[in-house]
Amino acid sequence: MTRRNEPKPSDSRELLASVSDASADTEYFSPIPAGYRKGKARYVIVMGTVMSGLGKGIFSSCLAKLLQDKGLKVAPIKLEGYLNIDSGTLNPFRHGEVFVLDDGMECDMDLGTYERMLDQDLSRANFATSGQIYSDVLHKERHGGYLGRDVQMIPHVTGEVKLRLRRLAMETDADVVFVEIGGTVGDLENAFYIEAMRELAYEEGPHSCCFVALTYILEPRTLGEQKSKAAQLGLKQLMQLGVQPDIIACRCEHPVSEQARQKVSVYGNVPLERVFSMHDSASIYMIPAMLREGGLDFEVIRLLRIEDRIDLRVERQEWGRWCDFTDRIGKEVREVTIGITGKYTSVRDSYASILNALEHAGIALQAKVRPKWIETTHVTDRNAAVHLKDVDGIIVPGGFGIRGTEGKIACVRYARENGVPYLGLCLGFQMAVIEYARNMCGLSGASSTELDPGCADPVIDILPEQKRIEGLGGNMRLGGRDVEIKPNTMAWELFGRSGSVRMRFRHRYEVDPRYIEVLEKAGLVFSGKAPDQPIVQILEVPGHPFFVGTQAHPCLTSRPLRPHPMFVGLVAASARRRYAEDDLPDPLTACRACASNGYTPPRTV
Ligand code: GLN
Repeated sequence: MTRRNEPKPSDSRELLASVSDASADTEYFSPIPAGYRKGKARYVIVMGTVMSGLGKGIFSSCLAKLLQDKGLKVAPIKLEGYLNIDSGTLNPFRHGEVFVLDDGMECDMDLGTYERMLDQDLSRANFATSGQIYSDVLHKERHGGYLGRDVQMIPHVTGEVKLRLRRLAMETDADVVFVEIGGTVGDLENAFYIEAMRELAYEEGPHSCCFVALTYILEPRTLGEQKSKAAQLGLKQLMQLGVQPDIIACRCEHPVSEQARQKVSVYGNVPLERVFSMHDSASIYMIPAMLREGGLDFEVIRLLRIEDRIDLRVERQEWGRWCDFTDRIGKEVREVTIGITGKYTSVRDSYASILNALEHAGIALQAKVRPKWIETTHVTDRNAAVHLKDVDGIIVPGGFGIRGTEGKIACVRYARENGVPYLGLCLGFQMAVIEYARNMCGLSGASSTELDPGCADPVIDILPEQKRIEGLGGNMRLGGRDVEIKPNTMAWELFGRSGSVRMRFRHRYEVDPRYIEVLEKAGLVFSGKAPDQPIVQILEVPGHPFFVGTQAHPCLTSRPLRPHPMFVGLVAASARRRYAEDDLPDPLTACRACASNGYTPPRTV
């Protein structure tokens, strides 16, 4: 009888696959999913040196886009070093916003960058954390997965990483998998990811993997010249781990000089034509062109030997469409200021999707959108006019906890009573309901049980399904749901008279259905609801230029070429208010014009 763990040595793939489950006396432990074809998928591995926050996700998504445009199937994956199982319990002011995927995965904001740049819905297969990897390994260990073996970082933990990448490649039928390793080379947390990538390249063979090192060129003001020493040291550290980069991308404020690139080239052991400048750009949507002009896309295609898979006719068409969009950037003919009730610190990352959605809408309407951050802890009905005096529109974004909520309600009231365009997102939707209940329905004790558990009228209460849940993490009402749109409402018009749209959710509280009638009687219109539950999800105030709230997060599904109608509506109404003399189109006309850009609510395949 042949033992299961005795592979035919001639077939290394089979060898690797067959030793995946037990105590083989071989060092070739590397689980491979059944049916995996080596060579079908190639891998681009993006790592950061010198410091974090260089924009690995931006770089990787832009490069992925350039390859996708050429007809290649791309699949990104972010590998996070932290031990949390997902990003749901992370503070957005420390780690950037929590991005929610259609399947309910709460993940890093970089996944949003990929979804927007690639106009592609992602799933939990595109996101891994050390916590998930360890948890899988430990689960397998408890279930006899490695019987007889001591479970080790190498090969078991690294094996689990490779397994995920290969599974993703298979499931998505990808030509190129983009692996972004979180953190910086030299971090303890991500060292096993880098080791796993070194092993992957070894196992997959020549031309299977392209290693990209993102590095940083310093430009101290006192010296007035670009310095590459930190970059050199970072690259050296990477090479000490057994990884020779194929491509180096240099982040810098200004275009990186030839001299600095030469130094990086010599010390990084990478030919000069593969050392690219990725300098600051007015919009991230200009970066694909920057990388394309430098020839990065074809360098990668040549390195991976996939020239025969690309279709330049497809690329001409896709690139043309993209340039029609980017050509509008910086050519705005007017400006609008949107007040966003958020905390000041690190706002750019904490509200990344909202800022992106505003940018998409602004570009479509040729309006430069300037966000103005409004700290609401001191805003009251009496001073709201002062705080909001120079904004053309207002967003109350999602949030948790009580801080600043009374100020947010005061902002909502000011917007409603003064015809200032308003968009309430999740918590902002709930604040609008509370404001309406208090000031239009005479329910002065109206509130949310999240803010005031003992309030007289809990118009916002915890979802019944949430009452049974204990503990935190991954247990809110999460992910994409279909929303039924009520005909002949603003929402119905915004969504091109579609009866149903898909939106993404992340909440624990909702409008208590017992209050729906009293709110509707007082004039509030609930124009979107869950198809099979009494959960209301979109509200509007008829007669107001633009007053819309949603329990969902429409910012998560806005894409550059498909700006989300709720944001287009807000920006159009705000521009119309600011430039009253110009007789600009109303929000619905503006949305109809944008719909010709092809907005269809994103769906998961
Ligand atoms: N805190 C509110 C809830 O849990 C709103 C959540 C949010 O804005 N994402 O329902």
